[in-house]
Amino acid sequence: MFKQLVRLVLLVIGCELVAADGLVMAARPEAPENPKLSEVFALAIHGGAGATPAYLPPKVQEDCRRALRRALAQGKQILASGGTSLDAVEQVIRILEDDPHFNAGRGAVLNQLGGHELDAAIMDGRSLACGAVASVRTVKNPISLARLVMTRTGHVLLAASGAERFADTTSVQRVDQNYFRTAAKVQKWQRVRSNPQARAKELDRHMGTVGCVALDRHGNLAAGTSTGGLTNKQFGRVGDSPLIGAGTYADNATCAISCTGKGEEFIRRAVAKDISARMAYQRISLDDAVRTVLEDELQPGDGGIIAVDHQGQISVRFNTAGMYRGAADWRGRFEVGIGRSEIPIASPAPLATGSNCRSL
Ligand code: ASP
Repeated sequence: MFKQLVRLVLLVIGCELVAADGLVMAARPEAPENPKLSEVFALAIHGGAGATPAYLPPKVQEDCRRALRRALAQGKQILASGGTSLDAVEQVIRILEDDPHFNAGRGAVLNQLGGHELDAAIMDGRSLACGAVASVRTVKNPISLARLVMTRTGHVLLAASGAERFADTTSVQRVDQNYFRTAAKVQKWQRVRSNPQARAKELDRHMGTVGCVALDRHGNLAAGTSTGGLTNKQFGRVGDSPLIGAGTYADNATCAISCTGKGEEFIRRAVAKDISARMAYQRISLDDAVRTVLEDELQPGDGGIIAVDHQGQISVRFNTAGMYRGAADWRGRFEVGIGRSEIPIASPAPLATGSNCRSL
């Protein structure tokens, strides 16, 4: 009887160990607690995809390149010094939101009513924690409010007046709608309103949404995207940027993604999550997953994607005539481009052979 009891107790303990082990095996990979910092870090940024930038005056093109370099340098510095991918993503996007050349924060496009409604999202690949805001009207840096939604609310997405009310409880900077308005965006809006043909053309010129993806030296991925949406969009329209899995996604097991382009197309196809899922299920490389989705799922002219995986591989691809973009990594890579053929699209060389998908 006693022996049977001992056997039962041992059996139960054994089962629990297996269960515990099973749990550990199933857990999402996280950076080790004691961080012996890895050398490896990487980041990519975008400032929107659309028409060839050749239609822009050379000075504006140069200003955009300069802004991209400044944002990329800031992100690189944060990552090189051991900062987190979330901090890099937020800071890089804040710089681009503050720059009037981009369609995010200051310089956001106008909606049908002549106002500005801004969307943003951020995601932490370590835990799948994420936060987003949609249709905010008075928040200077929507990406920072999105991060607070992630860390403070227990929700993922707050919209319109609910997001504004939440902003009231934080110290994020607030501004008048006039702060977002620039002469260039007002002219664009007027062109679109006065002429339906111009409308189609402007849709193809949809440059300016901003995004950043990063891998930090702790091994964690993060992604963020911020936008004013599409010129003359219907009041209340929300694009792909703040929708987790559509325009923004990050998972330490696979990759971090930020998209730009015709939001409705990216929403329909859950583009960002699709890329991550292809890596996980098909065990294909980051660049193969990005290329397949862009070529097989989306239509020419739809937009572009920046991505980084857990090994520091970068993929930057677009099916439009141009895309504002940049990439930097621990190997000394630091480059920005706006036209079609300026920088190589994927990382120069694979880091390691074997699976490109960290197993769960
Ligand atoms: N994807 C954004 C939206 O549809 C716009 C853009 O990326 O240019 O709101």
